[in-house]
Amino acid sequence: MSKIDPQPGILDIAPYQGGKSAIEGVTNVIKLSSNENPFGPSLAAQEAARRVLHEMHRYPSTDHRSLREAIAEVHGLEADRIICGVGSDEILHLLCQCYAGPGTEVIHTEHGFAIYKIGALAAGATPVEVPEQERVTDVDAILRACNERTRLVFIANPNNPTGTMIGLAEIERLAEGLPEQCLLVLDGAYAEYVEGYDGGAKLVHARDNVVMTRTFSKIYALGGMRVGWGYGPDHVIDVLNRVRGPFNLSNIALAVAEASVRDTAHVEKSRCENTRLRAWLAEALAEHGVPSDASTANFVLARFANQDEAEACNAYLQTQGLIVRPVASYKLPHALRITVGDEASCRRVAHCIGQFKAGAR
Ligand code: PMP
Repeated sequence: MSKIDPQPGILDIAPYQGGKSAIEGVTNVIKLSSNENPFGPSLAAQEAARRVLHEMHRYPSTDHRSLREAIAEVHGLEADRIICGVGSDEILHLLCQCYAGPGTEVIHTEHGFAIYKIGALAAGATPVEVPEQERVTDVDAILRACNERTRLVFIANPNNPTGTMIGLAEIERLAEGLPEQCLLVLDGAYAEYVEGYDGGAKLVHARDNVVMTRTFSKIYALGGMRVGWGYGPDHVIDVLNRVRGPFNLSNIALAVAEASVRDTAHVEKSRCENTRLRAWLAEALAEHGVPSDASTANFVLARFANQDEAEACNAYLQTQGLIVRPVASYKLPHALRITVGDEASCRRVAHCIGQFKAGAR
């Protein structure tokens, strides 16, 4: 028996399960399980990657100044209050590492993103799950769960995997009501899919207890490059930068992210197509007797009669070369999360779910 034990909490972590990307024996699969942008990255990003390939032997920038300035310019933010990370996952982990620890509590919502709990446990803190109201973040329930040990409250807005979101007035009420030692983390991984939504940036400006996190993995279609960022009060950004790895982002990642953030036309096109196809998909599923909540993101949460039906449908879709995401680990065993793909993928998945509901197995 080994005497080499990890820190308390580590063995309570259920390893993160990513979306499946292959089906054994099936070629030409349509992957709708990881909320990737079906239109791919901006062409400018691909050119930027080629331009920096010859710099592989050089260490990358430690302060990410050029990327931070581009983000600040495009989003109307202050570059000095931005921190860039290896996906927004790194920023979420850094927040836990720096602000939570043994004896403290970290709040996440019932159907909230898995990394909040993993980050809290990895930091030795106690994750506290708060119920939602019919799959929507419940501000009053969160406020009731807060106490003198609470250090962080994570909410994703829009939320993954439900697709629902709450309004800015509700977020403001939450920030206002938190205990003074507690930071509100607004995870805006899907913020760009909501027209006119700033992910909570104005609230970050107005208060000193709110941090916003964002990603290049979704609308920018750079999941494989691993770039995310956070925007917060000076005191928080200063703390996170003390712990962040000095060369956490590669030359290529920095260059493609900067080119992507400047290609606002690509973002706009992706958002419009997503809005159109999401509405089409939700309606088509509803016509087949599969309801979903009003999604504000690039996926829909298709609800089935029960877990058996959801699992059977998932198995049937796989026989048809379609990969969607079961979300039982998010306490939604009767649901499947389906990324809004391009038009052909949306039609195909709706057609196959229709066949399944009509009795195909
Ligand atoms: N937050 C939410 C709500 C997400 O769905 C995801 C990706 N699945 C992330 C954060 C992390 O994204 P990334 O690390 O790729 O930036």
